[in-house]
Amino acid sequence: MTRDPRFDVLFEPVPIGPVTAPNRFYQVPHCTGMGYRRPKTLATMRGVKAEGGWGTVCTEYCSIHPSSDDEPFPSASLWDDEDIASLALTVDEIHAHGALAGVELWHGGAGSANFYSREAPLGPTSRPAGVWDPVQTRAMDKSDIRELKGWHLAAAKRAQQAGFDIVYVYAAHWYLIRQFLLPSNHRTDEYGGSLVNRARLLHELIVETKEAVGDTCAVAVRFSASIGGPDDDQDTSEPREMIELLGELPDLWDITVHDYSYEMGTSRFVPEAALEDTMSWVKSVTTKPVVSVGRFTSPDTMLRLVRQGVVDLVGAARPSIADPFIPNKIADGRGDEIRECIGCNICYTGDQTGTPIRCTQNPTMGEEWRKGWHPETIAPKGSDSSILIVGGGPAGLEAAVALGRRGYDVTLAEARRELGGRVTLESRLPGLNQWNRVTEWRLNQIGKLPNVEFYLESVVDREQILEFSPDHVAIATGAKWRKDGVGRSLDDPIPGWEHEHVLTPDDIMAGATPSGGPVIVYDDDHYYMGGVIAEKLRKEGLDVTLVTPANEVSTWTTHTEEQHRIQQRLLKIGIVLEIGTVLADVSGDHATLECVFTGRTRDVAASSVVMVTSRRPLDDLYYEMVDEIEITRIGDCLAPGTIATSVYSGHRYAREMDTEQRTPVPFRRER
Ligand code: ADP
Ligand code: SF4
Repeated sequence: MTRDPRFDVLFEPVPIGPVTAPNRFYQVPHCTGMGYRRPKTLATMRGVKAEGGWGTVCTEYCSIHPSSDDEPFPSASLWDDEDIASLALTVDEIHAHGALAGVELWHGGAGSANFYSREAPLGPTSRPAGVWDPVQTRAMDKSDIRELKGWHLAAAKRAQQAGFDIVYVYAAHWYLIRQFLLPSNHRTDEYGGSLVNRARLLHELIVETKEAVGDTCAVAVRFSASIGGPDDDQDTSEPREMIELLGELPDLWDITVHDYSYEMGTSRFVPEAALEDTMSWVKSVTTKPVVSVGRFTSPDTMLRLVRQGVVDLVGAARPSIADPFIPNKIADGRGDEIRECIGCNICYTGDQTGTPIRCTQNPTMGEEWRKGWHPETIAPKGSDSSILIVGGGPAGLEAAVALGRRGYDVTLAEARRELGGRVTLESRLPGLNQWNRVTEWRLNQIGKLPNVEFYLESVVDREQILEFSPDHVAIATGAKWRKDGVGRSLDDPIPGWEHEHVLTPDDIMAGATPSGGPVIVYDDDHYYMGGVIAEKLRKEGLDVTLVTPANEVSTWTTHTEEQHRIQQRLLKIGIVLEIGTVLADVSGDHATLECVFTGRTRDVAASSVVMVTSRRPLDDLYYEMVDEIEITRIGDCLAPGTIATSVYSGHRYAREMDTEQRTPVPFRRER
């Protein structure tokens, strides 16, 4: 297929100082949970992005000195010359596909606690460092500032040696240079106080970095277009003055906003192109190219932003993770095949837990080197086996697509009238609509695969499988929420759980409505479901109390950068929160709550209870047949988890069919 000429503008080269980006698709720096620990894993992953058409591909934050150490969150590093070779691997992979390679030089200042290096954190003033960590920064004196600039220059030169084309001065987020820029910098010397003084360090770093490496490298500045303010209602006056002051110094402005949970907000809270209102003024105060992000998955949105002069380069982190081949798909006129990011931020949980990146939509993300998985290619089938997949949730659908692409004859049977399993049901809950892209993309793919057939309203049982007699059966029947309250805190059922007025998320998603009185949502799951069910019921007019043994609601969502927003929303809409509390007993019209710290109990009125605690795999069919036929469990039926886990499980099943596996460790490791 050929490209729609409307999109030609996205494929125009863009000069950036001494280098030229081959097109406008720009993978901005994003963390990966790999950093300096896994250079080959990282290099191969970035290379796949370049192969997919991203004209510029950047690293994650790259520490310039041991006084900027973010362990256990792994950053890249250019601390000394020994780091050059491992980053050069990434550069080479990116260059192999004709893309520019960018490196985001980083000093964390008060943003890093330095638990690995044990160096005292640095800052413009002495203040608490890290995240709730009991350490403070050492206020930098003039000689510290001189040293800092020396580290930055040395790292820039190492980056140049590694072959990078773009070197960042990273002045955004909660890191050192921004700590100098913010009004909270009350230093009394020429590096604090007035706006010009606060901008001095950034000014000097841009000029000196250009002098050091500007002959071959572009110098980019990552900068926040706002300070303070929630969401898109952010104060842009000072940042504007600063860009007016420094606007022509760097070769590229990479623009973010103040509120990180807005900049990389989940689709539950933040729409596509959300930064536009806050940053659209930037191009009016500089002639230099501007890049910014906005979870862009729509080629039309990308085109509009370039045409309207909001950006010169279309920045992306998550869209390039969910589909590393977006540019090539647009180039080939295959825009309908873009695997759109769903805005769930599972990718961010890798970095947040110090583990390699993963993605809900793209099961190959992070597996490019260690398993040799590629997002667009897959080995042809290894036999003429036929495969029956029972269950059309994310695991079953992904297995069907990947097996279908390998050329196997696949039959998928789904009990319900629609495909998508839990994703289809959950995407009808408040704010989760875009999650349905998981189903939509796979249905679109299945439509292109004549060797994959599916049957709806087909509850498969043992006799049917024996009659059908496929060579392999994948049981992808999912899991059901438990009604008995067994979860993370309680191993035994909660007394009274059998009452009719005790419901589960499955009941609510199937249309059950609690009776009109007060409802308790008991969340011992701690991801999104408890909060979402509470929100839904409250919006239907019920009095809702969310009870959780954790000290905050939906506590795991700190890793998806949502926790604050979830708690804020629940409080704003009038949900009562009982944190640090277990549900001890359910009776006819009340429930007994118990404090997890004191054991004190009290009774509260409850005409219904929704248990959001844990799930039970639906694996009866598997156990009925496991000794009879070639049968495998995948997805939630194997082990209930996230949607990402199910997609990965289905994909792995398909990849491994008729292929030899590494044992006992099923992937390559870096040492
Ligand atoms: P996963 O996340 O593992 O894909 P889901 O719960 O999302 O799990 O999807 C499982 C799907 O399997 C659901 O759509 C469900 O209706 C379907 N299913 C469950 N049991 C059967 C069965 N015996 N025959 C056919 N489909 C089934
Ligand atoms: Fe998008 Fe979710 Fe994938 Fe991240 S994990 S890239 S948010 S689909």
